[in-house]
Amino acid sequence: MATLTDKSAIITGASSGIGEAIAKHLAAEGANVVLAARRSERLEELAQQIEKEYNVAAKVAETDVTNREDVENLVKLTKDSFGSVDLLVNNAGVMLLSFLKNDYVDEWEQMVDVNIKGVLFGIHAALPSMIEQESGHIINVSSVAGHEVFPSSTVYSATKYAVRALSMGMEKELSRSGVRVTNISPGAVDTELTDHITDGEVLEMFKDHSMEPLEAKDIARAVAYAATQPDYVNVNEVIVRPMHKK
Ligand code: NDP
Repeated sequence: MATLTDKSAIITGASSGIGEAIAKHLAAEGANVVLAARRSERLEELAQQIEKEYNVAAKVAETDVTNREDVENLVKLTKDSFGSVDLLVNNAGVMLLSFLKNDYVDEWEQMVDVNIKGVLFGIHAALPSMIEQESGHIINVSSVAGHEVFPSSTVYSATKYAVRALSMGMEKELSRSGVRVTNISPGAVDTELTDHITDGEVLEMFKDHSMEPLEAKDIARAVAYAATQPDYVNVNEVIVRPMHKK
């Protein structure tokens, strides 16, 4: 396995859950990390912890991924700090599950903005220089909901199918460019993701959950697996689901 020593890695949505775990795992593999999200106090704390524990550099970039300029500045900060962007993990996302009949149109819009436009802005900001340097790796966090649609996941799934389509198209277009692409599709993971759901009918439905969710670090290991392969190995798709209770 290749080490990530002296590589730079941007992780969006690093202020909690899966993104935080990915940042720690990539730092443990030797990468200098740039932590992006809106809650910068949390990122500052994480950066301090990472620098202390893993002996790498950790930068903070307060970023709203729905704002194109913020994402461009995030990439600029990474280049100014480390010379290049070697790894971009498009992880920031929201899962505002609701039933279509309840018409939560503002939440649909937010999911489209964060989950699709946020990923597109990351690609826009980082890909040109990766193509120029003939190396780089973009890891997009989709979901099992990007492979299947469940009642109340219709719009969320639409955004995560879109993320998968972006990953698949990038793989086809970039396979001769030196830029690798990985799509990660987690099943249920214990994070803050469900805290933002407002549709009461969905919250009621969740009470009967029969699944023990994964931990964020279970997904971080999958990301690190893809990121630490030798340059000629392109891990395109990883699905990680929890086991059902016996
Ligand atoms: P969390 O809610 O813990 O993390 C979501 C992250 O996204 C936070 O760091 C949040 O930071 C960031 N974020 C949200 N909106 C924005 C924005 N506009 N700009 C920048 N950052 C933003 O959930 P998870 O860790 O679970 O989610 C991470 C990814 O994993 C998401 O894409 C999610 O869809 C996906 N996923 C999660 C699953 C699960 O079961 N947990 C299953 C399948 C996929 P802040 O609020 O500080 O901006």
